[in-house]
Amino acid sequence: MERERLQKVIAQAGVASRRKAEELIEAGRVTVNGKKVTQLGMKVAPQKDKVAVDGVLLTKEAPVYYVMYKPAGVLSTVSDDKGRQTVVNYIETEARIYPVGRLDYDTTGLLLLTNDGEMASRLMHPRYGVEKEYVAKVEGIPERQLLKQLEAGVKLEDGKTAPARVKLLSLDKRKQTAVIRLIIHEGKNRQVRRMFEAIGHPVIKLKRERYGFLTLAGLQSGQARQLKPFEVRQLK
Ligand code: URA
Repeated sequence: MERERLQKVIAQAGVASRRKAEELIEAGRVTVNGKKVTQLGMKVAPQKDKVAVDGVLLTKEAPVYYVMYKPAGVLSTVSDDKGRQTVVNYIETEARIYPVGRLDYDTTGLLLLTNDGEMASRLMHPRYGVEKEYVAKVEGIPERQLLKQLEAGVKLEDGKTAPARVKLLSLDKRKQTAVIRLIIHEGKNRQVRRMFEAIGHPVIKLKRERYGFLTLAGLQSGQARQLKPFEVRQLK
């Protein structure tokens, strides 16, 4: 019988991405045939071994894929112990969906949600390099030289950013603000905000307008739609 890595089996069941599944194992929340497993690397027979997360046995759900227009003031998580709104509250489904990556609480725009852990892991992997397009309103009017720096890569505490595409879209001399389009391939935590902080122009407002070939076309803030089969194929 074919054996698979435990984290892969958890991801395929739609509980979490593979990376998140590893965290669940290490946190002692996973059992195999009733025994707690905390070491990574175990292989199981998905048809035979009984794998449970938080005491709930895995069952494979049909994969579902949503694109949503996240409003500001909403968490990119599945649940919140302080009772704040999360992105999954906006989508009516029985499936155990979760966001692919995150947008900050105050960031608006395109977010993908799925219960397909394999797909989520792949899309979030830096090597996969999905293009993400942001529009940022920033404090002050950055000089051309600073925008060139953003394009070439700026030093953040977790390393230098990869080359990006940057375009000044508009500026307001009276209010001393500028609107800039930034296209990146990476997904470091709070990357866009930190990139603009690094050049001395903090972000006032941030929106993600595109993720790969997916855009917000047809969606209002707070709305979501299921991906069409051809879109799912294209993402894979
Ligand atoms: N970069 C950020 O700083 N915030 C987001 O929400 C997304 C990308």
